[in-house]
Amino acid sequence: VKQDGRNAYRFYETSMMTDALRTLDLDGRLRQAINNDDIVMYYQPIFDLATNRIVGAEALMRWHDDKLGFISPEEFIPLAEKNGLIHRLGEIAISQACQQAARWQSIMPMKISINFSSVQFRYCDKLFSQLKQGLIASGLPANRLDIEVTESLLFSHTQEVVTLLNALRDEGVELTIDDFGTGYSALSYLQKFPFDKLKIDRSFLIDIDQNEPNRELVSAIIAMAKALNIQVVAEGVETKWHTDFLIQNGCDYGQGYYYSKPLPADVFERLLYKSRVP
Ligand code: C2E
Ligand code: CA
Ligand code: CA
Ligand code: CA
Repeated sequence: VKQDGRNAYRFYETSMMTDALRTLDLDGRLRQAINNDDIVMYYQPIFDLATNRIVGAEALMRWHDDKLGFISPEEFIPLAEKNGLIHRLGEIAISQACQQAARWQSIMPMKISINFSSVQFRYCDKLFSQLKQGLIASGLPANRLDIEVTESLLFSHTQEVVTLLNALRDEGVELTIDDFGTGYSALSYLQKFPFDKLKIDRSFLIDIDQNEPNRELVSAIIAMAKALNIQVVAEGVETKWHTDFLIQNGCDYGQGYYYSKPLPADVFERLLYKSRVP
């Protein structure tokens, strides 16, 4: 028993070391990746469920490291939030996504959605000027830009955040609550902040065909949003069943592997050409 205990302890110690080393390694590699322009945005189309047409895309960050391969944003975004690189990553997301979306307007009118974590709202003035700059430099009209924020931002919001969100809205930028239902959901947020859309997190859809309570929940979220004049996007649409269910319940937009995975810009562009109304 003692022997086992010691081995277990050793194992724990080793894995903690490995974690710390990986973080240190990733930290340096992320800095390099930023300087070498190795951070690129992928684009996942968002469909109007009723017409089955592309209306926009969510920009999702991708980092491919020569030695480690693809590193998930679930790993490097939290790291960047800790070491402060998140602000530079935000700038990269804004500049790449706005440039692409501005070009794509001539293929068809479409919106581009960019993710922002709460940490990025720590310097609201800086964020506002980054966004302004991204729009001016690309020529993208403000009403083609959609900003996705999570509930945690609203939970811990400051007066600056409220002012920034209102200022963006005044510019014509759209605002979406992301991962709806997973955080500190308070319905009062929907009234208090000027949101255009809410995005139902994909955890609600995963087993929905066998999960009656989740079906009720999703249908109630959609109904509530409708009553408040907020549009609804479902994330993680993976099957025909999902699509049918969402349409029946009045969901406006869908995004997920059933339609398409996130794509590199050139591949997304080909998809846009193909789905253009003749
Ligand atoms: P998110 O904003 O909730 O993004 C949706 C995630 O679900 C994406 O993962 C997307 O690839 C994935 N997804 C979409 N449809 C499906 C589906 O049908 N099935 C499954 N299994 N997954 C699907 P991804 O790209 O790995 O991003 C993870 C998270 O990292 C994002 O979650 C977001 O919180 C964060 N993130 C990604 N890019 C950025 C960025 O540019 N800035 C910031 N601040 N965060 C980002
Ligand atoms: Ca998102
Ligand atoms: Ca999500
Ligand atoms: Ca998220």
